[in-house]
Amino acid sequence: MITRLSKSRFQKGLQCEKALWLTVHAPELADPVTETKQWIFDQGTEVGRLAQELFEDGVEVAEDYRHTDEALVTTERLLAEGATTLFEPAFFFDGVLVRVDALVAVDDCTWDLYEVKSGSRVKPENVTDAAVQVYVVEGAGLRVRRAHIVHLDTSYVWEGGAYDLEHLFTIEDVTAEARDTLPGIPALLERFRAMLAGPEPEIRLGDRCRKPYMCDFSGYCHAALAGEHPITDLPRLGEQALHALLDLGVTCIRDIPEDFRMLTPAQAEIVRVVKSGLPRIDAAGLARDLARLTWPVYHLDFETINPALPLWPGTRPYQTIPFQYSIHVHHEDGSHEHREYLHTTPDDPRRPLAERLIADLGVAGSVMHYTAFERTRLNELAAAIPDLADTIGAILTRLVDLAAIIRTHTRHPATNGLTSIKRILPAWCPDLSYDDLAIGDGSAASVRYLRSLRGLLPDDETGQLHADLIEYCGLDTLAMVRLLETLREHAGEG
Ligand code: SF4
Repeated sequence: MITRLSKSRFQKGLQCEKALWLTVHAPELADPVTETKQWIFDQGTEVGRLAQELFEDGVEVAEDYRHTDEALVTTERLLAEGATTLFEPAFFFDGVLVRVDALVAVDDCTWDLYEVKSGSRVKPENVTDAAVQVYVVEGAGLRVRRAHIVHLDTSYVWEGGAYDLEHLFTIEDVTAEARDTLPGIPALLERFRAMLAGPEPEIRLGDRCRKPYMCDFSGYCHAALAGEHPITDLPRLGEQALHALLDLGVTCIRDIPEDFRMLTPAQAEIVRVVKSGLPRIDAAGLARDLARLTWPVYHLDFETINPALPLWPGTRPYQTIPFQYSIHVHHEDGSHEHREYLHTTPDDPRRPLAERLIADLGVAGSVMHYTAFERTRLNELAAAIPDLADTIGAILTRLVDLAAIIRTHTRHPATNGLTSIKRILPAWCPDLSYDDLAIGDGSAASVRYLRSLRGLLPDDETGQLHADLIEYCGLDTLAMVRLLETLREHAGEG
């Protein structure tokens, strides 16, 4: 039986033929859909719905992906009845079924095609997406004049009221690029069909596992690299080096041969640390950096959202907005106390959060953060609230990046060279862990907060969500307290 393809399966095949094979023959091996991924899908659907309002008098082919044959019949009927703007029409040609986001008649026999993306720019994979649609729509007998990608414009500032759709969206003509892609499509389809008729293809892990999309079968394919030191953890390991190691049968960092020459000096150093099993600490350098701290040290961490569609006047699509922070005030004797802010009302959190933050951080003492994220958020708050800009500017002068200190002066075999706080904390402070928290990472925190803001969370779960958010964000800054204490001990200070 010949497998029917779709534009999403075509895209999958372009990314990795094994992923396409698994989608068709073993979909049960796909990774579970995470809350964050589901939110991205849902957000895309919402953006798509809104984009339909760019077109007048459109009629939707309502049958969903489980009723594609019916969708084909409805499309044919609507075309025969003279519909001039169709949403989600279905077309089938050369074994491929596509649903077009919007198809608009130019004249009796010519159409313009629109593919809506919730992203902020046209990416190469969007062009191939449009190309396969042109291929199928034209193969089904219609003439396509132009193909467009409709995407969000992140420079649009919402002023309140109804969105100004002409400015919220950008429409880019990708006809020329899509037509350049068309000649290669029949051969690709033939190749995909031959591959699908055979056994699971043998394809090595590589950049394709993450680009352009995080592959749905990552867990299945990476199972062979399970363990504490998978080679894929090595930061910036190039595809050539990865393949060379896999060809040698090496999946664990500990097993990388001494004479393997394809690593950078930084990667080779990580390998040596992992093999030794012992942390390395530059105690003198650490002591120098820690001596610059002014006590008490305020450990600061923000949680943020970046909704595709602006939620508050004065904000842009995908603008990052802090809604929560945690501060641990860490005294030189090792004691500490906790301060926190969580915005629990549906209005713009930035001003009340900034005002409380200013009060909670006082006027003296280092403000410690982890990576440049907090610095960027503070700069954005200063730009958004001019009357607080000077005060926030003074806080900016007190910032100290703990991640940079750890990166510069320490190596730990348990981290495999990774420096996120989620990896660093259990390595240096094994009694503290994120494992038992209801919210385990920043993306989940963001998605759940957004769901509550949008009224998508039952009322009786909101209180628990707030408690979970406070616990999660609080652990981030408690982790920083513990890490700094550990570093002080190694620097001979503690
Ligand atoms: S994880 Fe990588 S190798 Fe496996 S199917 Fe996905 S892209 Fe292909």
